[in-house]
Amino acid sequence: VSTETITPEQIAAGVRAHQLDKEHVFHSWQAQGPFAPMTILKTQGSWIWDGEGNKLLDFSSQLVNTNIGHQHPKVVAAIQSQAADICTIAPQHVNDARSEAARLIASLTPGDLDHVFFTNGGADAVEHAIRMARLHTGKHKVLAAYRSYHGGTHLAINLTGDPRRFASDHGTDGVVHFMPAYHYRSYFSAATEAEETERALRHLEDTIVLEGPDTIGALILESIPGTAGIYMPPAGYMAGVRELTRKYGIAYIADEVMAGFGRAGQWFSVDHWDVVPDLLTFAKGVNSGYVPLGGVAISGAIYETFRERAYPGGLTYSGHPLACAAAVATITAMKDEAMVENSARIGAEIIGPALEELKAKHPSVGDVRGTGCFWALELVTNRETREPMAPYGGSSPAMAAVTGALKKAGMLPFVNFNRIHVVPPLNISDEDLRTGLAMLDEALSVADGFVEA
Ligand code: PLP
Repeated sequence: VSTETITPEQIAAGVRAHQLDKEHVFHSWQAQGPFAPMTILKTQGSWIWDGEGNKLLDFSSQLVNTNIGHQHPKVVAAIQSQAADICTIAPQHVNDARSEAARLIASLTPGDLDHVFFTNGGADAVEHAIRMARLHTGKHKVLAAYRSYHGGTHLAINLTGDPRRFASDHGTDGVVHFMPAYHYRSYFSAATEAEETERALRHLEDTIVLEGPDTIGALILESIPGTAGIYMPPAGYMAGVRELTRKYGIAYIADEVMAGFGRAGQWFSVDHWDVVPDLLTFAKGVNSGYVPLGGVAISGAIYETFRERAYPGGLTYSGHPLACAAAVATITAMKDEAMVENSARIGAEIIGPALEELKAKHPSVGDVRGTGCFWALELVTNRETREPMAPYGGSSPAMAAVTGALKKAGMLPFVNFNRIHVVPPLNISDEDLRTGLAMLDEALSVADGFVEA
């Protein structure tokens, strides 16, 4: 492990930062006492340096948001230049960074999603999309999938279909969960993908009918569920969801907070199936997280609802100039450097084939799935029974050992329950990517040790 470029002074500063963090910082999702956060002293491209100066390959893209890698010089320069010009301006005024960001995003979103409401991140984008959908349809209930994540604010966490919801699920506020199509662990005893699609859609339609179509204003669905396991919708599923929502007058919200902006090898994941939602939420990759930004892309019909009627919602920092300047520079760099094309290429030519090889070699790998720079390996202790290597919602000594082996090999991994996600920056070099895949190969030998004899 290399310690190049990190000085003793930087390490000493990191030690002090770590002490102050323990004394004063309250962390997300953690029991504060035992939490042992990693200090990061430096970031560059696909690499980060930890508090001891170890250089680690960032195969997590942090929280799957640094789609263009760390410290892209053009985006850093754009933020600096915007800061020197206008740092902040209230949302009711016009600002060129915001206008240009909206124009660029509208040019990339599918169909007639031509207006953008900017938020500070993904959760508030989801909250506003639901508010717009409810007002547009005049109906209150919202359908959301189990095994999903939509954010940490009140309604967004209620919509979420993973264990992070449980502690905050006091009032469901009209949220109804349905079973998504997830072929590897089919809820519908489907033997084939076609069966999975047909049965999952029948279940969804039954849910709509039994809940009452006249009561359901919105359906929100991650186009490719991210943290929940990057389980790809089977052929025909997304088109079926679009059809059902249209049939019953339900606004369809595509949550592209994680799956959007090139992560899955297309600008937006709905593009894989040529599906056009009524609303599309984004955040993360829109500016690689360099400055907090999210938003809702709005269809013509929903825009019309608010042409003469005031939209009852807003944020002090909606369309913040620093965040929007970062978005303009990020999207421009992504286009100039063909990063979305690169994401598709390395997914198809390098990551996919390499993970299939790892599956053939390591009995601990139960399933491999994904596209672009958005992949998951599901680890199991028994391939026949598909027994997960950690329980749903938890970890296990086996997963802790694999995670430890990945870090020891020189990787910052993304691990959730019994899964390892392969989610590097879209512009990672082929060489760095192969280095990371070799680290994964090494760590999976540790996982194999936990497979039932
Ligand atoms: N929606 C999806 C699909 C996400 O993956 C996330 C975050 O991981 C969110 C919403 C919430 O975004 P944020 O953390 O920016 O509020």
